Amino acid sequence: MAEKLFLRCGYCGDIYHRIKWNNRGCKSTVWRCVSRVQKKSRGIDCPARTIHEEDLQAAVVTAVNDAWARKDVVLPVLKANVQSVVDGDTDERLAAVDQALRDKQAELLEAGKDQAKIDEIGNAIVALRKERQNILTGAAMNTELIERLDDLAAFLDEQTEAITEYSEVMVRRLIAKITVYDEKLTVEFKLGWRSMWMHNGIWI
Ligand SMILES: [Zn+2]
Repeated sequence: MAEKLFLRCGYCGDIYHRIKWNNRGCKSTVWRCVSRVQKKSRGIDCPARTIHEEDLQAAVVTAVNDAWARKDVVLPVLKANVQSVVDGDTDERLAAVDQALRDKQAELLEAGKDQAKIDEIGNAIVALRKERQNILTGAAMNTELIERLDDLAAFLDEQTEAITEYSEVMVRRLIAKITVYDEKLTVEFKLGWRSMWMHNGIWI
């Protein structure tokens, strides 16, 4: 189930793979840096540690609980982050670009046979269309960001007490990635809010 986790190596930046171990009948599931697993074919011998799946799941539960315990602080910070990304009024910016496009098209009609002028206007039109597309793309990304924030806020609000069990649903909903370092794991939420967790369970 934890295959949904997206793990990165703090040493080499590669991903971590899930590996099932069976050591004389003693089964366990661990995660290891791909560079370490494939060191012969890749020629890299990454020193990153192996991590047990239970430790990973505990880190996720701890990170989510921490976000929940601090939601009064965390949510306004996230909202401010989203707000800083959502720049300006899309409708206004689109209207300005559309007006500029109409002006250029009118200019084109009046350009006659002046090829240099036609080319110049043509380039301006291409640039304006590109700008229009960028505004639309940005607006779609902003909408997605706001939806994620709403989702995180809803999740944190629904929780009435600390979470005790790891769940895949929780991971899918909240966690973007986890990075493994020697002394800690960083858990990155889908909105970029990070939390740190030391290997021995103490927050830093
Ligand atoms: Zn590595």
